[in-house]
Amino acid sequence: MRRKLAAGNWKMNGARADLTQLQALCAAHDGATVDLLICPPFTLIAAAVDICASHALRIGGQDCHAAAAGAHTGDISAAMLKDAGADAVILGHSERRADHAEISDDVRNKARAAHEAGLLAIICVGESLAEREAQNTLDIIGGQLSSSIPDTATGENTVIAYEPCWAIGTGLTATPDQIGEVHDFIRARLEKRFGAGVGRSVRLLYGGSVKTGNAAEIFAVSNVDGALVGGASLKCDDFSPIISALEAAAKAS
Ligand code: PEP
Repeated sequence: MRRKLAAGNWKMNGARADLTQLQALCAAHDGATVDLLICPPFTLIAAAVDICASHALRIGGQDCHAAAAGAHTGDISAAMLKDAGADAVILGHSERRADHAEISDDVRNKARAAHEAGLLAIICVGESLAEREAQNTLDIIGGQLSSSIPDTATGENTVIAYEPCWAIGTGLTATPDQIGEVHDFIRARLEKRFGAGVGRSVRLLYGGSVKTGNAAEIFAVSNVDGALVGGASLKCDDFSPIISALEAAAKAS
């Protein structure tokens, strides 16, 4: 049985004053029955870790460098994230692929570094609107999976997030049928490459405008083990009902 995961991506949002949102989340979800993760900007990680020290809410980064250390101005290594108290890192988000020209080979090397540092790697894949309209979605996702996931992946150290680029921050959400098709495809690919044991234990998250109003419907889809949430993770009042919907889905499954 895969434990469900509600993960929040704060992107380039948040100052120290916003850490009160984490305090509120911890208070609202003491004894959570699903895994909880917030990935704030690098500047808030250490303070966020301190706030959540006695709670199950975990803290992660939004990127890391593939090298352990060295002359890479402005970058952060996986070991540095671990040292700051992080447990996870988001890799290959479509905004990083677009803004920083990251390709799947980069993502694979970063994920390997994350594994070596003892971090959970949340590897993002997703098609553009043009790719979906050209009916290339599964080819694109298949290629990203092959190249972005390192051989070091296990169910304990890797999560895959399916995030259609056209649904991120747009208010558009993939339909349950679209999500189910891609998640079943990802599961089959993982089982083929890693065998049934590992392939069935890697958790699959959906991301793309998840909010209170659509969470329950999305969490009912096969092979959806949780969500990677952007905008709706910034405020406790928005994220909390999504967590509750995931807990309800876990109870029902
Ligand atoms: C994301 O940034 O990973 C994301 C899914 O954003 P949003 O929920 O705002 O669409």
